[in-house]
Amino acid sequence: MQIDVEKCKITHYPAEVLAGRAQPVKEIDDSIRKLVEKMTDIMLENKGIGLAAPQAGIPLRLFIVSLDATRESVRVYINPTVTATTREFDSVEEGCLSVPGIYTKIRRYKKCRVTATDLDGNEFTEEAEGLYARCLQHEYDHLEGMTIAGRMNSAAKIAHRKQLKKLKENHKRNVKRE
Ligand SMILES: [Zn+2]
Repeated sequence: MQIDVEKCKITHYPAEVLAGRAQPVKEIDDSIRKLVEKMTDIMLENKGIGLAAPQAGIPLRLFIVSLDATRESVRVYINPTVTATTREFDSVEEGCLSVPGIYTKIRRYKKCRVTATDLDGNEFTEEAEGLYARCLQHEYDHLEGMTIAGRMNSAAKIAHRKQLKKLKENHKRNVKRE
């Protein structure tokens, strides 16, 4: 896949790149390293704690997480799998850089396990709970074409209908401009 990092910018719901299943990363090369740098910049500029490649406009299976929103804590997850390790849920308010203006309660598993490859090509597995588990499930959703706009319940959809409508109208305008 050709990646022009200069063109990478935050994508907003309902952009197509956020709605499809992302493709596996075949090789960890310079373009992937540059993409991770750019994604880190985008995430920190927007004060996020996680960012998936489709949110930068690139449909690849890769995301980053930095729970304290610092550059030092950024971790890279390439071709990750995230699986629940409990049947217990909780429902906590979440936001998403790609769904601006909406904070809504989302049901997630309390604990999960992530297996992924890091930028050096080493595979790792971790057990997660709390905010970390929530963040991993949120970012993994992006690789499967799901956002909090799709996950929120019907009451939340009604409560946030004006902002959802605004995002759809902005998207239409942007598509026309391109
Ligand atoms: Zn998100």
